[in-house]
Amino acid sequence: MALNSYEQARLRLAIFADLEIMMDRNGGYASRDELVNFEIEGKRLGLIDYSRGIRNPIEFDSTLSVVTSAESPYSDNVGDDGLLRYSMRSGDPVGGDNRKLRVAMETRTPIILFEKLKPNVYVPSIPAFVIDEIRSERYFLIAAGEAAWPGSLATPEDEIAKRYVEQVVKRRVHQPVFRARVMIAYQRTCAVCRLAHPELLDAAHIVPDSNERGVARVNNGLALCKIHHAAFDRNLMGISPDYVVHVSGELLRESGGTMLKHAIQDMHNVGLSLPASAENYPSREALDFRFSTFIH
Ligand SMILES: [Zn+2]
Repeated sequence: MALNSYEQARLRLAIFADLEIMMDRNGGYASRDELVNFEIEGKRLGLIDYSRGIRNPIEFDSTLSVVTSAESPYSDNVGDDGLLRYSMRSGDPVGGDNRKLRVAMETRTPIILFEKLKPNVYVPSIPAFVIDEIRSERYFLIAAGEAAWPGSLATPEDEIAKRYVEQVVKRRVHQPVFRARVMIAYQRTCAVCRLAHPELLDAAHIVPDSNERGVARVNNGLALCKIHHAAFDRNLMGISPDYVVHVSGELLRESGGTMLKHAIQDMHNVGLSLPASAENYPSREALDFRFSTFIH
């Protein structure tokens, strides 16, 4: 039985919060079992359906999640506007599963967008919004990330603002997938110090994603712990194209404290821990480009 609207909103936000915590611990992705058997407040409430790409729990008037799978590559379904084209369920466009997805659109209710990267690897984007439907072509338009809040997309005042929003949406849509891919490639381990705690790791871009070359591919990524990510981003630590870690001369000359000694100085001239598969190795070209900005 559906809950009252206050209870629905409260429960939905509690699910988002617990899922975020799970993602933090897991390194940004979850298995099918973890999602099907998800528990909230002591009760099982699956976040994905056993067999369908949409989850419409009886407790909610609107859809809780949709799954887009790697068999139909996500990027192929994303238009230049950064929005996902999500095909309507077969059958009646106003009935069945489509009905609750439309309610999510009309009430601007946030949903979870899962990308199934490969069997048993699901990456959530929270929140996502159903922002429009193209009934003649039988698809819904879905935007992911906070920037996708319908208010910011509905009637952009001018073309520049619209383009900016689209870029932000595009980047946000790709960020969770990027993180999961990098975490999987590096087996949830810092490439510099081998710390293996996903909740302390980031997926760092080699070429920053504000740069047009900073594409969200694994080869432009590194799994780095928070301290090494920060040091890398600020060019206090560099990684040369031959996969060697360099610490800036400024930090090498300093003294004081175990953090400085063990976490920073001892990493100078250490070889990078590389992914198991060579196809996921960091791009030498990207490292070269980035290393040119490192101050020795
Ligand atoms: Zn580290």
